[in-house]
Amino acid sequence: MINNPAIILVDVQNDFFTGPLKIKRVINIVEPLQRLVVAARKNDVPVIYSIDAHYPQDVEVVRKWGSHAIKGTQGAQVIDDLKPEDGKDYIVEKRTYSGFYETGLDPLLRSLYKGEGVKTVVLGGLHTNMCIRHTSADAFFRGYQIVIAKDGVEAFTVEDHEQGLKYLEYVYNAKVMMTNEIIQEIVK
Ligand code: ZN
Repeated sequence: MINNPAIILVDVQNDFFTGPLKIKRVINIVEPLQRLVVAARKNDVPVIYSIDAHYPQDVEVVRKWGSHAIKGTQGAQVIDDLKPEDGKDYIVEKRTYSGFYETGLDPLLRSLYKGEGVKTVVLGGLHTNMCIRHTSADAFFRGYQIVIAKDGVEAFTVEDHEQGLKYLEYVYNAKVMMTNEIIQEIVK
């Protein structure tokens, strides 16, 4: 049972699909996520984009990954196939792995459903063992239920992805579900 859900799409941006941090397999998550956001919008389930908007001096850029998803650049744009719907979807920029870290995500979630708040975050995007994991940690700490779209998340390697899913299930009690199953639950 998925209660007061919000779909959160993490780092679905050009630089992760076609730019410096691209990997081939990520293309597989696009179609399931398209279906998921279409169903969500149709059923008044909020769709939130939790996306990198880096400054060049951000610790993640300088110390770990090099330049990617720099605020205002083409690389930081959401990929065309998953474009946010103007005036309906929400975009919450972040500057490191977790979508909650020093962003407005938590107050946004609490304000939805007429102030009742989101209870379940449904996560899709990149990467299973990094931004999805850190966002799940912060969601767990704040009391949200966590659902992971199994065919809607990916990582740099198959091992990273599979171990990432196991970790999410084990540590945060995340429910790993196929996009189709999630859609069935959110359709009213
Ligand atoms: Zn980043």
